Amino acid sequence: MEHSVELKRAISFIIEAGYQIDRDAFQILKEASEKVNLDLLTRSIIKEANSLPEKPLFLERKLIEKKIKELQTQSTLNQSIIITGKGSFAPYAKEVESEIEVLKDPTESISTTGSLKNYVEYFQDRFRRIQRILRSRIDSRDSGSIIQALKAPTNSKVKFTCMLREKRESPNGLFLYVEDLEADTKVFVPSQNLELYRKGQRLMLDQVISISAIKGRGNLLIADDITYPDLPLRKTNKANLPVYAAFLSDMHVGSKMFMKESFERFILWLKGKVGNRHLREIASHVKYIIIAGDIVDGVGIYPKQIEELEIDDIYRQYEAAARIIEEIPEYIEIILMPGNHDACRRALPQPAILKEYAEPLYEARNIYFLGNPCMLRLHGVKVLVMHGRSLDDVISTVPGMSFERPDEAMKFLLQCRHLAPTYGARTLIASEPRDHLVIEEAPDIFHAGHVHMMSYSSYRGTIVVNSGAWQEQTEYQREMGHTPNPGIAPIIDLQSFKIFPINFASSNFL
Ligand code: ZN
Ligand code: FE
Repeated sequence: MEHSVELKRAISFIIEAGYQIDRDAFQILKEASEKVNLDLLTRSIIKEANSLPEKPLFLERKLIEKKIKELQTQSTLNQSIIITGKGSFAPYAKEVESEIEVLKDPTESISTTGSLKNYVEYFQDRFRRIQRILRSRIDSRDSGSIIQALKAPTNSKVKFTCMLREKRESPNGLFLYVEDLEADTKVFVPSQNLELYRKGQRLMLDQVISISAIKGRGNLLIADDITYPDLPLRKTNKANLPVYAAFLSDMHVGSKMFMKESFERFILWLKGKVGNRHLREIASHVKYIIIAGDIVDGVGIYPKQIEELEIDDIYRQYEAAARIIEEIPEYIEIILMPGNHDACRRALPQPAILKEYAEPLYEARNIYFLGNPCMLRLHGVKVLVMHGRSLDDVISTVPGMSFERPDEAMKFLLQCRHLAPTYGARTLIASEPRDHLVIEEAPDIFHAGHVHMMSYSSYRGTIVVNSGAWQEQTEYQREMGHTPNPGIAPIIDLQSFKIFPINFASSNFL
């Protein structure tokens, strides 16, 4: 017979305390585990047994029953005791004070005027910021300029920081057309060096890297290594309490394919109303919900969208979203940012969702409305959040990437230390005087959505998580051959960095 971890732990606790239990008492404990917190129960039983004038060998049934009753009445009085059974639900997270700091939010600082000067300034700013990151690496600390490299004597080794402007395949390798703040040049990557050649092929346009090369005759540079700024090896920050965050995105409220029932099941779960003991235990720790954009489906976002809309008015879409989101328990903090379907400018960085459209949401409950991308700190854990439009560009241009594993594409962006390397591709980028898309600080958790595939992994200590979607496959996705896996919410324990992917779409959810 299979016994729960809690029950096994309770039994060994009793034995260690010097007591034994008979079959009868065991059965009572087993039944009690459905109703009360077994840990608390065994502790109080042992405490009482220890205080008896004559310590019994066997724990009596009467004593156990008395303690169960006490605990049951106590727990209705004292909400901080968690009942893990079918009874009332007193969530741990409710007792924990929230700790949110917004480290970066583009909402206030967006300033573009759209002039060509801004475009130049934008790229110069990107170059300088990523150069600084590269210089903090031991292997590219000495990375110089293109002019220095071109002046070096023939056959000497050179190293320089540059931005990739163009890539051209040739019969024997790859030509990289690169530039820095003063000059431009081309670098040859020979296909004989297969590993390096592949590295070169993976480069995205406008990405900033360090290249080490051999200076040939004339202005010829032959690459022998390419260095990404990448994440440093470091100690990640973890919470000192078992508080959990739920990562969501791409609800697409207003779409006929919005999975209302699954989302409602998610909210019932948060309230402790559905789920087995284990799932309810997880729910009781959820303190934060981060929604990485595409809350609503919007209107006129893609061709023939109107045929797939249940609500064809953006204001009413936000109203419907507000009616759902206001059901989330008040002690849970919600952080919400826009995606490409929301009422917001398309170009990155995006400010918070516009109040004039999303008014019902602003009025429904307390929500942190932030821009895309943004950086937060929750109990010391640094969380970088973006919607993820640029993942389309990474997946369609970098060899080896796929829509099935958006976390791999996200990892690539961490290596580039930039959230949307290529300018002028599918991802619109506003040429702000400052590049808000450089990943200046290494995050502990990197969260994105947009691709509608829940996937996660860990990279150099950072949890990389794509939160999937709450929308069934659309006609457009069918045509593109994308099969999403919607309705699964990854929940992360900010203390242990354990991930619990919970499938709310399945009807056998218990
Ligand atoms: Zn979406
Ligand atoms: Fe999206």
